[in-house]
Amino acid sequence: MKEFIIATNNGHKVIEIERILSPLGVTVVTAGERGVDLGDVVEDGDTFAANAYIKARHAYDLCHQPVIADDSGLCVDALGGRPGVYSARYGGQDASPLVKISLLLDELKDVPDGERTAHFACAVCCILDENTVIEVEGRCDGTIAREMSGDGGFGYDPVFVVDGRSFASLSAEEKDHYSHRGSALRKLCDKLALYMNEGGQTDADK
Ligand code: IMP
Repeated sequence: MKEFIIATNNGHKVIEIERILSPLGVTVVTAGERGVDLGDVVEDGDTFAANAYIKARHAYDLCHQPVIADDSGLCVDALGGRPGVYSARYGGQDASPLVKISLLLDELKDVPDGERTAHFACAVCCILDENTVIEVEGRCDGTIAREMSGDGGFGYDPVFVVDGRSFASLSAEEKDHYSHRGSALRKLCDKLALYMNEGGQTDADK
C-alpha cells in the first residue's frame, strides 16, 4: 500500500490531502497522473459520506488501486444547513468562488452577528481493495464573516472564521490543524497506520 489515487480534480484538495497524509510515508497521485480520466461522476448522495463513497468507488473501479475521496461543504445554521452537500453547486455549477461568497453574504445580510454560526464538514472514503473500505468524518465549527479577508486557501475560506481569523488568513499548517479535512484525514491516518501495523495488505500489494 504505497500509492493512493486522490479522487478529485480540485488541486487545492490534493495539496491539503498530500500534506496531511505525509506522516504515513505514502505517495499520493491524481488519477490523471496515472493516465486515468475520472470524468464527471454524479454526486447524488444525500450526505457527505454517501458522496465520498460514490467518488471513491468510481475511482477505484477505474484505477484498481487504493483510492481516497473526500466530499465536503459548508453548512450554515441560519440557512437550515445550506448549502451543505450542494456547496460546490451553490449559485450554479460553474459559479466562481467569488460569486458563491457574494451570494452567501447576501443571503446572510440581515442575520445578526451572534447567529452567523456555521460548520465545514468533510467525509473521507478510502477504498484499499474490494474488501476494505475506511470511512471517516471531520468537522470544523466557526462563523460567517460580513466580508472577505485573507488571501490563502480556496472556496469559502475568505469568509469562514475560526478563532477570530478567516481560513484564508491561516497558514497551511494552521488550516490543517483546525479544518474539517485535517480532522477527517488525521482519523484516516490513524486507521491506515493501524491497518499497516497489523500487516494489512491490499490486493495491489499481493
Ligand atoms: P466537493 O468537491 O463536492 O466536495 O465540493 C466542496 C465544496 O465546498 C466546494 O465548493 C468547495 O469550495 C467547498 N469547500 C470544501 N472544503 C473547503 C475548504 O476547506 N475551504 C473552503 N471551501 C471548501
